[in-house]
Amino acid sequence: MEVKILEKDKTSLSLILDDANASIANAIRRTIISEVPTLAIEDVDFLENTSSLYDEIIAHRLGLVPIKTDLEIFNFRGECSCKNGCSKCTLKLSLNKEGPCVIYSQDMKSEDSKLKPIEGMPLLKLGKGQKISLEAEAVLGTGKEHAKWQPAVVSYKYYPEVEITDKCDLCGDCVAACPRNILSIEKKKVKVLDEKKCILCNSCVEACELDAIKVRGNDKKFIIKIESTGALKPEEIFSKSCEILQEKAKKLREQL
Ligand SMILES: [Zn+2]
Repeated sequence: MEVKILEKDKTSLSLILDDANASIANAIRRTIISEVPTLAIEDVDFLENTSSLYDEIIAHRLGLVPIKTDLEIFNFRGECSCKNGCSKCTLKLSLNKEGPCVIYSQDMKSEDSKLKPIEGMPLLKLGKGQKISLEAEAVLGTGKEHAKWQPAVVSYKYYPEVEITDKCDLCGDCVAACPRNILSIEKKKVKVLDEKKCILCNSCVEACELDAIKVRGNDKKFIIKIESTGALKPEEIFSKSCEILQEKAKKLREQL
């Protein structure tokens, strides 16, 4: 199997898996969404809440805020050598605000300046004189337990291949039909500008009356896209999922 980077930025990563099969692409996807751990708030202690929302609703919202995670230093609380939570397995956060204001995720103060909530998520609105004061604990967990620990949204698709045959009479119907605008007529030929952007919708095939265009997904080649919540870098998520898969294969080999 060959892996190539297609696109990469701060929060997302697209890879091409060549000479692979659907079970490998799906194993990576499933490992990422259910087994790559991240930090999320698990316990919330309310000291004061005179907002218009119940404690439970606020706690649930806090749980869904992605928190920057460092897998090198953090352990699962259940596997840590301490008994009641230490700095290696539990991250403490606090929130103290008085209205009128909108509380954002970054208003939560973390005890570790590197591990803090992802900024920019509005959590609740406080009216005049309303107050909120709470302490929270974030721990490592996996998406298998609760979706709040899921590090990313992952999808994969067959690598699209578009073929234009000699039957083409340059009517341009396929060019107009493509929702991704990846076809164009250049030098008396229909040209595919970027087949990777094709979503295999077959609109061009249906538009062509001469049956001159063929679109198929290559079932040995895949485009896999990882969109991180921000808790981990997308490349960290991918390499961690490969590590987990390797570890599982190793354990199976030992049993055999
Ligand atoms: Zn601990």
